[in-house]
Amino acid sequence: MIPVGRFAPSPTGRMHFGNIFTAILSWLSARKTGGRWILRIEDLDPQRSRIEYARQIEADLRWLGLDWDEGGVDGIGSHGPYMQSLRGDIYSEILSRIESTGLTYPCTCTRADIMATQAPHQSDGRVIYKGTCRPAEIPAMRPVPIPLTPHATRIYVPDDEITFTDIVYGRQQVNLARSCGDFILRRADGAWAYQLAVVVDDALMGVTEVVRGNDLLLSAAQQIYLYRLIGATAPSYAHLPLICNADMQRLSKRDQSLSMSELRNRHTPEEIIGRAAYLANLIPSYSPCSLNELVDLFDWSLIPPSPAIKMKTPDHTDHTAKISG
Ligand code: GLU
Repeated sequence: MIPVGRFAPSPTGRMHFGNIFTAILSWLSARKTGGRWILRIEDLDPQRSRIEYARQIEADLRWLGLDWDEGGVDGIGSHGPYMQSLRGDIYSEILSRIESTGLTYPCTCTRADIMATQAPHQSDGRVIYKGTCRPAEIPAMRPVPIPLTPHATRIYVPDDEITFTDIVYGRQQVNLARSCGDFILRRADGAWAYQLAVVVDDALMGVTEVVRGNDLLLSAAQQIYLYRLIGATAPSYAHLPLICNADMQRLSKRDQSLSMSELRNRHTPEEIIGRAAYLANLIPSYSPCSLNELVDLFDWSLIPPSPAIKMKTPDHTDHTAKISG
């Protein structure tokens, strides 16, 4: 089986150093193993996603030398479309399959689903769903009355442990009922939830390895649960330490100093790649380097399993503190 990695940015702004740290490590892992690398555009959120941002993401990846074998806005490859906004029919079909398990139910809790289209980064401050709309008899292989008012579709989660081994952080054990509760697969306004779309796409695109920030570790458990329900094999997961700013906050698209526009003004691709390689422990001290040089050096066992890595300034004379614990 050919290894398949993917990078799945949301086109809601210019990428920052944290986004490209993920892209670089995912790309290196795919290239090291002779695998393929897919660029999928996660534009599920109709209010925040913009095609111009997707094109800018492509331009920034190309500038760094991160080439993809499939995907992108123009959708090269046989698993397209690669823009999630164009994949509604596919999600609909798989949702019907999940609904046939009897484990979904309509939810009319207002506003509870607003964030469902976005990957739930921990800093977004999610709450555990209390089960307000959950029918008394779940799992119920019987029809649940469908309200006439707009409603989200929620999936029941059992009070059991999901276990998996993350490539960087090792064995994980997550109780979904206690960590997030029943979660949304489709919003009341019809928008598809990140959790459903990411599983459907990774499964249908043959993705074997998912690389992303460690604030999506809990999501991996939600996704493994959905893989089981649709009868597909989950990929391996490699979550990465979060790149934080000097205040130890996860970088956001609002952090201008480490955004790609600023980085491209001040640095060469080799400087940025060297910085990422140093933070990932692939090289012992900072020096500019090329992606090709790193393919040989890449090894998952070198990546520090620390929660976060602090970047003080983007220039290469700074000190970088790796925060452990
Ligand atoms: N689109 C998500 C983000 O930009 C990535 C989610 C994933 O890789 O599964 O945060």
